[in-house]
Amino acid sequence: MDKKIVIVGAGVAGINAATKLVDNGYPGELITIIDMGKDPYNRLPEEVMTGMLGAGGWSDGKLTYHTAIGGVLSKYTGEEKAMELMDQVITNFKRFHPKPEEVQCSNPESEPEFIKPYFGLRLFPVWHVGTDYLSEIAKNWYDYLVSKGVKFKWEAKVYAIDFENERVLGKFLDKENHELEYRYDELIFAVGKSGIDFAQQLANEYELPDEPKSVQIGVRFEAPQEHFQNLIDISYDFKLYRKFDDKGVSLRSFCTNNNAAFVAVEETYGDVSYNGHAKKDPKYLNGMTNFGILMEIKGIDNPFEWCREAVKKVQIDGTGTYYSPSRKPSLTSEGTDVSSIQVEDLMYLYDSLGEYAQYIVDFIEDMKKVFPTLKDDWGIYMPEVKYLSPEPLVNYEDLSLTKYPNVHFVGDALSARGITVSGAHGVYVAESFLK
Ligand SMILES: Cc1cc2nc3c(=O)[nH]c(=O)nc-3n(C[C@H](O)[C@H](O)[C@H](O)COP(=O)(O)OP(=O)(O)OC[C@H]3O[C@@H](n4cnc5c(N)ncnc54)[C@H](O)[C@@H]3O)c2cc1C
Repeated sequence: MDKKIVIVGAGVAGINAATKLVDNGYPGELITIIDMGKDPYNRLPEEVMTGMLGAGGWSDGKLTYHTAIGGVLSKYTGEEKAMELMDQVITNFKRFHPKPEEVQCSNPESEPEFIKPYFGLRLFPVWHVGTDYLSEIAKNWYDYLVSKGVKFKWEAKVYAIDFENERVLGKFLDKENHELEYRYDELIFAVGKSGIDFAQQLANEYELPDEPKSVQIGVRFEAPQEHFQNLIDISYDFKLYRKFDDKGVSLRSFCTNNNAAFVAVEETYGDVSYNGHAKKDPKYLNGMTNFGILMEIKGIDNPFEWCREAVKKVQIDGTGTYYSPSRKPSLTSEGTDVSSIQVEDLMYLYDSLGEYAQYIVDFIEDMKKVFPTLKDDWGIYMPEVKYLSPEPLVNYEDLSLTKYPNVHFVGDALSARGITVSGAHGVYVAESFLK
């Protein structure tokens, strides 16, 4: 327990790794966490992607508990270990929660008849924390790590990592732009989606072998919650899905937010994309539901470029578009308009996705059959896109790069897509250090 550990990214993965270490007596003074965002006391509500607990810390806080949801975990750890690791992450969120008894669990046990034959429903438990409690959790969690001696460097952007000489190079984002440099014995690379371009830069520079990924693209759907209430009562974060195996296409509803549900704009690679979150405080109740309708398409050459092109075509001057047969875009939780340009028809969607747009339109049409009061009372924000980072080849026992065994990739940087899987990656790497 005398190695210097540097963690790049104070997101869900990095913070769970540090917690596992200090919980087990690892000296906090040997752990440095660098993040380009802010500590939880200074992070602003609109800083959705960066800072203490990362994107997960300012999200809706739905903690899913299934190895088929949220990216790759059991491939590395096996099923049983994956579930145990996710348990540890959920326990950490409850442990630093000011009112852990308020974390609700939704656990549907069978597919309701009324969605058949149009949709299937994925069955798995999900704990719901809520955005406003997450910021309290982030403060308690941060205070704990600081009390254990962990050193944090906030508003410091890492721009290079010298894998050969085990050095991290960055800049503080203050007016003077002071340089920072750290040496490490072990490095945990946990930059999440906001660091996706940096991960790509390292992959190119060091010619890291990786696994090809598919592209996930679609829209963020929004409607009054009452239309979906009978399904929400069964499953809070319902995952409707359908597959067209012969066409290599599958669709699912993704990241459902209810009660006090807001659509959020996020930026990846400079492209605008929509997502959503929900608040717990009753003062934010707006009676809305939003979720992604995400499509995975297999067999497209160079899916990353294809997807970027599609994203550009569905925007107007770099702003996302909104279509509804009857509604206007909603307000954000801060009371401003969700940034979007309203369009009169679905031409932009067809221009962007070509024949694939029809799958999304059919999904909505079939929802109208399953939820008969929905009719034209809905809108879509375009696009919602998930650029999966290239998944570098790693050693399964500690997620270290096959070329650099003291560099460990975790979380969204290793193609996770959710809080529990990302946190579990971090815990898994920490356990390998403790061995
Ligand atoms: C709006 C929104 C809602 C979401 N809702 C949910 C949900 O309800 N449930 C769920 O399971 N998942 C949700 N997700 C996804 C989830 O947040 C991520 O999968 C998860 O946070 C990934 O964890 P991570 O630690 O890998 O990365 P992150 O949590 O994104 O953390 C990465 C950290 O790295 C830092 N960083 C990046 N690059 C650098 C650099 N060069 N130098 C220094 N620091 C850097 C960033 O500042 C950030 O703090 C949501 C995402 C968004 C954007």
